Amino acid sequence: MAKALYLHIPFCARKCAYCDFASAATRADDPLIGAYVRALEAQLSEAADLGLLEGCETAYVGGGTPSLLGGEKLGGLVSAARAAAPGVGELTCEANPDSLADEVLGAVREAGATRLSIGVQSLDDAELAELGRLHDAQTARERVTAAVATGMAVSCDLMCATPRQTDASWARTLEGVLSLGAGHVSVYPLQIEEGTAFGRRWGDADPAFNDPDVQAARMEQAQALLEGRGFERYEVASYARPGQRCRHNIAYWTGAPYLGLGTKASSMLDLEQYLRLCNAAPQLPEPPAGGARARLTVETGPRALAADPRLSALSLSLEFLTAPQAAAEDLMLGARLTDGLAPALVSRARALLGPALDDTLSDLLDRGLLAERGDHLVPTERGWLLGNELYGALWGLAPGEVTEARC
Ligand code: SF4
Repeated sequence: MAKALYLHIPFCARKCAYCDFASAATRADDPLIGAYVRALEAQLSEAADLGLLEGCETAYVGGGTPSLLGGEKLGGLVSAARAAAPGVGELTCEANPDSLADEVLGAVREAGATRLSIGVQSLDDAELAELGRLHDAQTARERVTAAVATGMAVSCDLMCATPRQTDASWARTLEGVLSLGAGHVSVYPLQIEEGTAFGRRWGDADPAFNDPDVQAARMEQAQALLEGRGFERYEVASYARPGQRCRHNIAYWTGAPYLGLGTKASSMLDLEQYLRLCNAAPQLPEPPAGGARARLTVETGPRALAADPRLSALSLSLEFLTAPQAAAEDLMLGARLTDGLAPALVSRARALLGPALDDTLSDLLDRGLLAERGDHLVPTERGWLLGNELYGALWGLAPGEVTEARC
């Protein structure tokens, strides 16, 4: 059944200036938060009763800002996830420094979380203020230190090519999180998205701080610094000390089925799992002929979900992929990973996609976007920098249109 479980918390203390994630500014004492968490707990139990979480190996409570829930509610949700999916070995909670109080750390650890992913973004006060973050650098340092002291694995999210950032301040941020003991670092260039404060301010301006060359240079700077300190880059944006790779994210990138619960959470299910879910959620449409994989996104808002948590009451948007489309998707996801495309993955895709696959792979090798390493085809640095071309070419192998539906 689903190998990975995702729980979405769509609440934040305030919207950051660049953020277009599914979250809304919500007061920590808003009764909606408690009602929403209880609804997720009810859905966990329903999914477990359906057998959808048998064999589930990882869980991730993301957002939004899960730490905004406070220790009692977040600990309760972690316990409920543990009870619903007892085989989970890695359970991550996302957190922001300003709400990662000691009581939250204690409660989630006690409840069975094994890993924290902390939205640090920068250790420079002026940069943090520009991003609209609620914490300052000192708070981030203190909270990461406290998280590391609990013994849970700690990851820090960092952002580059942001306003006011310089090569020197970026190096200080990277050095800073390493000195605090983080064992995993995710590094993202700022994307200026429509509908955000940054989008309104800079949408058409192509600001110099976010130039693609600056993004590439900062990503290379991060790579040199992190690899020089013993971190392994295992995905385009992810670095880990040995043994600290995020198993949950690897499940996403290797085409493993996953179940997402909560507003705007996504699931990817094979046909058998989808049909099992249909038993509890009869509003789901029949899969189309040839459908081999279903991608579902919960469209029910937090208030409606809290009012009626039954799976049969959910509104969802759906995409159905045929087996060849799923094979193209797996190739595209595999190209995010340092390990790249294994021979078994390529052979399986060749059987479904035919000679077009070899033409595309040769072209990507000729253009220096992929390279051969042993019997694997791996993304090159250039391939990652030109990610849209690399991923677009592999997804372009998918024949026909993806079938969409809503219910
Ligand atoms: S804390 Fe994260 S999810 Fe919330 S607004 Fe900021 S970037 Fe978005």
